[in-house]
Amino acid sequence: MKLPFAESYKIKMVEALRRSTREERVKWIEEAKFNVFNLKSEQIFIDLLTDSGTGAMSDKQWSELMLGDESYAGASSFYKMKNAIKNIFGFDYFLPTHQGRAAENVLFSVLVKEGDIVPGNAHFDTTKGHIEFRKATAIDCTIDEAYNTTIQHPFKGNVDLGKLEHVIKNNPVEKIPMIIITLTCNSSGGQPVSLENMKQVYSMAKKYGIRVLFDSARFAENAYFIKTREKGYENKTIREIVKEMYLYADGATMSCKKDAIVNMGGFIGFKDKELYKQSSMYNIMFEGFVTYGGMSGRDMNALTQGLYEGTDFDYLETRIKQVEYLGNKLINFGIPIQHPIGGHAIFVDVMRFLPHVPQEQFQAQVLVVELYIESGVRGVEIGTLMADRDPVTRENRYPELELMRLALPRRVYTNNHMDVVATALKNIYDRRETITKGLQIVNEAPILRHFTVELERVK
Ligand SMILES: *Cc1c(COP(=O)(O)O)cnc(C)c1O
Repeated sequence: MKLPFAESYKIKMVEALRRSTREERVKWIEEAKFNVFNLKSEQIFIDLLTDSGTGAMSDKQWSELMLGDESYAGASSFYKMKNAIKNIFGFDYFLPTHQGRAAENVLFSVLVKEGDIVPGNAHFDTTKGHIEFRKATAIDCTIDEAYNTTIQHPFKGNVDLGKLEHVIKNNPVEKIPMIIITLTCNSSGGQPVSLENMKQVYSMAKKYGIRVLFDSARFAENAYFIKTREKGYENKTIREIVKEMYLYADGATMSCKKDAIVNMGGFIGFKDKELYKQSSMYNIMFEGFVTYGGMSGRDMNALTQGLYEGTDFDYLETRIKQVEYLGNKLINFGIPIQHPIGGHAIFVDVMRFLPHVPQEQFQAQVLVVELYIESGVRGVEIGTLMADRDPVTRENRYPELELMRLALPRRVYTNNHMDVVATALKNIYDRRETITKGLQIVNEAPILRHFTVELERVK
C-alpha cells in the first residue's frame, strides 16, 4: 500500500484553545456589532481570519531570536536579511519595513502622484488604499476567468494582456508609475500567476517603459503552483523558480507576515539604486533607519530564517495540501467554493451559498456571522464591505464576487480542526433556505471600512 501523506514537521510547543457555547457566541457577536474584527481572540475557537502574522515559527526561528543584533545602525541581522534577499530574489538593494503596507507607504511616497493610474491583478486592499489615498487609481486587469468561481484555470491570478494594453494605450505613459502583479492574487482567491504571464507583462511594460512591481506576500506559494501546474517547471526547485520569477520585476514589496512565516515584518526590494535612495528618505521618516526600518534585529533574524523555510518544497507541500484537504471536504459537501483551490485560503462563493440574502445586505458578512455563531470559527468577508465606497461618488462598490475567506495560518491547526470547519459550514448549508435577511451599516470609516465597521441585523 502507498503510504499516506503526512506533515513535514512535528510539534514541540502547543497553545490551548478555548471552547464556547452558542449562547455566548450570539451575545459576543452582537457586542462586536457583527464585525468579527471586534471579537476578542479568547472568544474564538478556530481563527481563520487571516494567514497574516499568525503562523507558527520553527525551533530554528526561535533560536535566531536569541542571536538578534540590536545595534541601531549596521546590525549583523540586517546583513543576514540582505544576503537572503539577494540569494532568494536577486535584489541588490532593500529596505526593511515593519510590515507590507509600510513598504507600500514608503515606495508609493516616491512613485505615486495624484491622477496616476496603477494597473495590476486585483490589488490587495492596503495596496489599493495607499494608491487611492494619494488620489490615484488602481485598475484591475485580472483575466475574466477569475470572476467565475466554477471555471477551472490553473492561473486565475494572471493579468489579461489585452486589458493591460488598453489601459496603457488610453493613458499618458508618464501617469503610469508602475504595474503591480500580486503573487498570489489574494482578492481573486489566492490564485497564482504563471511564469509565462509574468514574462509577458514584463515585456509589455518594457515596450512602454513602465516599471513592474511584485506584491510578494505569497511569492513562495505562487512558485509552488508554478512547479506543480506549469509545463517545464516540474523538475526545478522552488528557489530556482523564484529566481526566475524575479527576473521579471523591477522591484517588490513584501509583507513577510505571510510566506516568511513571521509575526511581523516586511521589506522593499529594488534593482534600481536611484529609487532605493529616494525611498530611503521616506523609510527613515516613517519606519526607522535604513538598517532596521521598524524591526528589531531579532525580528530580522527570524524573518531571514523564515524566508529560507518558506521556500522549502516539503514545507510548501504540507501547507498547500492542508488547504486542499479543507477545500475537498467542502466540495464533497456540495458547498460552492472558488475553483481551483487557492494557496492560502478557501474562498466560499456566497452568492451561490446564500442566494436569498441581497448583495446590498452584505451577503458574505452574513455567512461570516453565521459560521462564527455555529462553531466559533472566524472567517472574513471579501465582498461589498471590503470593496468600500467609490472615492468620488461615495456609492457602495459592488464587486463581482461575494466571498467568505477562510485563511489558514501556517503550521498552526491540524486536519481535525479542518473537519470542524467543514462540518460547521455543512450545517449552515443544510439550512441555507432559512437565511434570508442580512445586515446594514450603523457606522463606517471613510477608507478601509471593513476593519472597524459597525452593523446591525436588517429587521
Ligand atoms: C498582507 C498583504 C499586504 C499588506 O501587508 P501587511 O503586512 O498586512 O501590512 C499587501 N499585499 C498583499 C497581497 C497582502 O497579502
